[in-house]
Amino acid sequence: MSLQRKLLDLKLQAALAVRHAQGWQRLIDLYGEDRATAFYQHLGLNHLPAKSVEWEGLQLSRQPKDYEALQVKAVAAAQDSAKERLTNLLLVIRNSLTDDALKMLTVLSPPNYHKLIVTVSDTDREHLRDAVTVTFNDGRLLIAAQRGIKADDADDFDGDLDQLTSITTSRLANDVQARVTGAAARYALLGQSGATLVTSVTGDVRTASTAYVDRVATGLANRTISFGRSVEAARYEWQRIEYSALLDVNTCGPCLDADGQEAASEDDLTPAPNPECEGYDNCRCFHVFVQD
Ligand SMILES: [Zn+2]
Repeated sequence: MSLQRKLLDLKLQAALAVRHAQGWQRLIDLYGEDRATAFYQHLGLNHLPAKSVEWEGLQLSRQPKDYEALQVKAVAAAQDSAKERLTNLLLVIRNSLTDDALKMLTVLSPPNYHKLIVTVSDTDREHLRDAVTVTFNDGRLLIAAQRGIKADDADDFDGDLDQLTSITTSRLANDVQARVTGAAARYALLGQSGATLVTSVTGDVRTASTAYVDRVATGLANRTISFGRSVEAARYEWQRIEYSALLDVNTCGPCLDADGQEAASEDDLTPAPNPECEGYDNCRCFHVFVQD
């Protein structure tokens, strides 16, 4: 695209944005900001940045309620440390998958790029499985600490933890395959082949951003902690259970809707992390177990 054309596009976009803003301004002038906001959100356009509050060193979506205040620090700390532990491990695993994929690329011709398949090694998988167990137990300990009881060994949740591990290894493998074959096809289209192509692809994938790994680690950390909390909580009586979007600083519409939901059982609450969360893996919502 020529620079001149690009500038025309920018001006057009800007003109449309001004018209869009004027339309909403007119509604505010006619009906007041509250009603215009309600209408805006009713259309599903709820990406108005929420006001976050600073509370004892944490950035929260609102002031915590009393019983949330007792738990939120420990939950946030557990999520953060699990995320760090898992991110480091997943980066190592992704590197070795990338090595494998680049090796395979040297023997594939462009029409066969889709046959490139990588698998996480047994050792790497075991390391990840161990980290998932540690994270699960961290989740259980949060509830045990809340009840002032030392957590016993959990019953058999191996199947569930195996599954969380497998979902994660398959997400990583898919990502590496897609990146490597995508880059290879792009360079093949540009006429590259052989060692030149492999060098180009290697450059691309070695400098790829770690954002995806970060997201996968966050999703796994929050889901596993939440699972540990549920397993432990199921052993006690609770007055009620509440959904809390306290830790999602930029709370999305679906999480905001669920915030403060109450039920006698977790099954009757929106799951946390929330499958509908617009931040996907980044959802930090959790269930608060309330006892008198
Ligand atoms: Zn959420």
